[in-house]
Amino acid sequence: MSHPKLIEVLVQQTPRSMIALLIVSFIYFVIFFKFIPLSFLIIWLFAQTLLASYRLYNVRMFKKYIKQASTQGIQKQKKVFMIVTALQACIWTVSSCLVVIYAPPPFELVNLVIVIGIITAAVLSMATIYKAYMVFFFIMIIPQIFILFYYGKHQHIALVVLILIYIPVTLLLSKAIYNGHLVNIQTNKKLEESVEELHKLSMIDNLTNIYNRRYFFEVAENLLSIAVRDKKKASLLMMDIDFFKKINDTYGHHAGDFILVSITQEIEKIMRKSDIFARIGGEEFTILLHDTSKEGAGVIAEKIRSIIEDKNFEYNELTIKLTLSIGISEVNQQNTTIESLYKEADKKLYSAKENGRNQVAS
Ligand code: GH3
Ligand code: MG
Ligand code: MG
Repeated sequence: MSHPKLIEVLVQQTPRSMIALLIVSFIYFVIFFKFIPLSFLIIWLFAQTLLASYRLYNVRMFKKYIKQASTQGIQKQKKVFMIVTALQACIWTVSSCLVVIYAPPPFELVNLVIVIGIITAAVLSMATIYKAYMVFFFIMIIPQIFILFYYGKHQHIALVVLILIYIPVTLLLSKAIYNGHLVNIQTNKKLEESVEELHKLSMIDNLTNIYNRRYFFEVAENLLSIAVRDKKKASLLMMDIDFFKKINDTYGHHAGDFILVSITQEIEKIMRKSDIFARIGGEEFTILLHDTSKEGAGVIAEKIRSIIEDKNFEYNELTIKLTLSIGISEVNQQNTTIESLYKEADKKLYSAKENGRNQVAS
């Protein structure tokens, strides 16, 4: 029972198998009502009901501990489960003994059919717990072999041979079911991981590890509509590295990539968690500052500009200096959508470039 998901499978199956068990117990009661003393039968049925109820309680506790992710609790319930299961198997063995003592032939064969049916159902429903079904299996099957030997007739010995074939076949079957469950669980886990990875890939830029263009426009749209509704301010910074082509040409594309990552890290240091920072083009970045006026955005933009201007980017024993230009726009009567805000900031960025770069325009 190594994997917690296997317990979940057991938890799902137990209520159904307990109902089936009680139905079969009742049928047993009706069949042997004529032969076995009523007091024994009532005690027997009572014990069956008690243990079945306890199994349902056990399932509830399993659910609770799985929810709390308490390995200690799960471990304890596993022990309880094993004990109750062993007791249930013992109760079926007791019933076989009662049949041998009180019922005439061929009722020992009727009993055998019931027992084999119970074992098969148990092996199928408990396949996720190897040890438990082994306990159940052997406690019930070995007395049956003795009982058949006790009758000692030709047909009884033949049935012993059949049971000896039945044992490995059933064990192999349940092992196959167990493996099937495991493969299912592993496949599901891989699938979940792939979906998560895909989701991440769809929103994160793989060079800088910040949001990509697609995700930015998606989220910015929502945030802007909230800001407009709540009459809150919001500003957009558009940043473009100055003469970045020259950096690529002089130091190589790898150096260029290194610069992109380093700049991202510098900017991230001064950002608030609530701001959305994204790479929207090759060497173009944007930040949506929520609850921030154009003036406030100007202060932040100037801070970014001067940090980048002062920074010595060290790459392979080279010191690279660079600057960037920033355009700012603010939510107002004309700019209420991310498209218009973006257009406005881009215009300002263009004018910052026109006016000599390394500056902020708003
Ligand atoms: P300007 O000051 O006018 O912005 O000049 P610029 O040279 O920076 O011009 P532009 O913004 O048009 O340059 C974009 C360059 O950025 C072109 C391309 O070689 C480079 N670039 C785009 N994406 C990447 C990337 O992922 N890695 C690297 N190393 N370079 C990139
Ligand atoms: Mg550019
Ligand atoms: Mg540029």
